[in-house]
Amino acid sequence: MDRAVENKLTHVDVLIAGAGVSGIGSAYYLQRQCPGKTFLILEAQESFGGTWLTHKYPGIRSDSDLYTYGFSFKPWTGAVVATAGEIRTYLREIMADNDLEKHIRYRHRISTAEWSSTAQRWTVTATRGDTGEMVRMTANFLWMCQGYYKHEQGYTPQWPDMDSFKGQIVHSQNWPADLEYKDKKVIVIGSGASAATIIPAIADQCAHVTMLQRSPTYYATDFSAQALADELNALNIEPAWFHEIMRRKVLINEGIFIDRCMNDSEAVKREMIDNVRAHVGDAADVETHFTPSYRPWQQRVAFVPGGDLFKSIRSGKASVTTGEIARFTPKGIELKSGEVLAADIIVAATGFDLCVLGDIRFIVDGREVKPADTVTYRGMMFTDLPNLVWVFGYFRFSWTPRVELVAQFFCRLLNHMEAKGLHSVVPHLRPEDQDMELRPWLTPDNFNPSYVMRGVHMLPRCGSKREWQHTQDYHFDHKAYPAIDLDDGALVFG
Ligand SMILES: Cc1cc2nc3c(=O)[nH]c(=O)nc-3n(C[C@H](O)[C@H](O)[C@H](O)COP(=O)(O)OP(=O)(O)OC[C@H]3O[C@@H](n4cnc5c(N)ncnc54)[C@H](O)[C@@H]3O)c2cc1C
Repeated sequence: MDRAVENKLTHVDVLIAGAGVSGIGSAYYLQRQCPGKTFLILEAQESFGGTWLTHKYPGIRSDSDLYTYGFSFKPWTGAVVATAGEIRTYLREIMADNDLEKHIRYRHRISTAEWSSTAQRWTVTATRGDTGEMVRMTANFLWMCQGYYKHEQGYTPQWPDMDSFKGQIVHSQNWPADLEYKDKKVIVIGSGASAATIIPAIADQCAHVTMLQRSPTYYATDFSAQALADELNALNIEPAWFHEIMRRKVLINEGIFIDRCMNDSEAVKREMIDNVRAHVGDAADVETHFTPSYRPWQQRVAFVPGGDLFKSIRSGKASVTTGEIARFTPKGIELKSGEVLAADIIVAATGFDLCVLGDIRFIVDGREVKPADTVTYRGMMFTDLPNLVWVFGYFRFSWTPRVELVAQFFCRLLNHMEAKGLHSVVPHLRPEDQDMELRPWLTPDNFNPSYVMRGVHMLPRCGSKREWQHTQDYHFDHKAYPAIDLDDGALVFG
């Protein structure tokens, strides 16, 4: 773009995409650690919270503890897990305490980002949701906090004869506020965290709820650090200490558990299934319905606090069926086994459509760069995409500890560039990296939920060396990131 025209546009040092937990946490660090930098947050939706604004199904809650899902800088004082509303209140307080709201532009969906090496800045085009107007602005850096799935709608597989069903079909991600499920027969398709949350939340009011799954999921019922929480509570420890101690304890417990899932998976599998058996009793055949075929943590473990899902099953208000759908019928679902399930409402809790970098089109010096053609630098930057950092949290640990690690790294990088008078940075494979084996972002033997596998071809590739991977390992990153040598040649400055 012509430099004279560009100069008239709003310009900021850093443009943050998305006002979910990642965008708000990143803005907090930017303001604290790079106080001179100007910034804006562009958010497609009408308010903040991302995931916790989008999802409105009954019972919507975290399945992480809030000591690690909450930020290290703001103590969590509520229950171990939190509702979407409580998480938004927590984020609202962070925004108020740090005067962040004035930096956010809601209803601004970014569609294109164009980098000019001559101007050494990004020009971003966004569409306003309220007026439809196209807005352009420029930024030296993009901080991509747009999450990993499409917020507009969830993923619904297309089954034969769906149109023939006379009742209502809804997706858990687009839950209608006026959905009337009282005294209705409901089928919830899926058995992940969303299904496991919705079922106990609605079962008492429905005539019956059937959890229909193609294959079983792992469930955890207890908070691993409850004993310590009880002890600290008894000692009347002040909130900041309580939060920090719990946070450290949970991160250690999770590291040990993840390690056991990898290296002692049969024992962990037995323990988890025995735990389910103890909760569900004779109300369901554990072998058929609660014995996954994969290793624990190869897909997300769903947390069902106190085993509430199993209480619903024991009460008879809910049941579980495992099988493949043959087709929908006017009155419900017929399985390939021939079994027929009756329903007034069918809820597809069938996951997300993965979305990489907010479905934004990236153009670098006139050439389109597809994220899938790049190689990631530590899961947060990409070859061929200058002055851009991406926040992709942890799947097995809480998402947010990584928001903080990436933020601290990026602020250090910004300050380093400022001090040296540098304007651009882009990762580049060094001579010693050239022969490195390149792999998909995630391999199925490591983590393979359907939504990741459906979209893995859209994600950047990673390498065999840790500098070129998203390790998914908090304890590694926690040590490695503060020690990253910015001048080791993997980052090329201009
Ligand atoms: C129901 C549910 C429960 C979950 N529970 C947990 C949990 O307990 N623990 C855990 O660790 N993780 C959990 N997750 C994962 C969760 O997504 C992350 O924890 C976290 O909320 C991600 O935050 P984020 O800000 O990176 O992304 P999001 O929450 O996805 O927010 C991204 C924001 O960016 C905006 N955006 C996207 N594209 C654009 C664009 N082009 N232009 C402008 N704005 C854009 C979106 O509108 C959205 O508001 C859960 C996910 C779901 C769906």
